[in-house]
Amino acid sequence: MKRVYVARHPLEAHLVKGLLEAEGIEAFVRGEDLFGARGEVPVTSETCPSVWIVDDDLFEKAEEFVLAYSRGQVPARAKSRSWRCPRCDELLEPQFTECWQCGATRPMGR
Ligand SMILES: [Zn+2]
Repeated sequence: MKRVYVARHPLEAHLVKGLLEAEGIEAFVRGEDLFGARGEVPVTSETCPSVWIVDDDLFEKAEEFVLAYSRGQVPARAKSRSWRCPRCDELLEPQFTECWQCGATRPMGR
C-alpha cells in the first residue's frame, strides 16, 4: 500500500479515490476520522485525509494521474464526456475537438 495523495478535505480525498477507481486502481481513504480533530492536532500530511492505493505496482500510474489532477488537468475519463461550446453553447459529443457550429476550439481543463 502506498499513499498517492494528501487532500485538504475528506471530500477531496474521496473524489481522488473515485477518480483512481474509475481508472481501475483500487484505492482507499485514510485519516478522514482525524479531520474532525483538527484544531487539537497539528495540521500535517499525517493528519490530513490521504488517498492510498492497494497495489504498489500501480503506484507510478496512480501518481501520474494524481499529479495531473492536482494541476487541474481533466482525467482521461472526464475527457470522454460531452462538452458545451463556450461561444455558442452547443452541446458536443466527446469525439469533437472543435465546435461544428461555430468552430470554437474545445476548452481544456475544467
Ligand atoms: Zn460553438
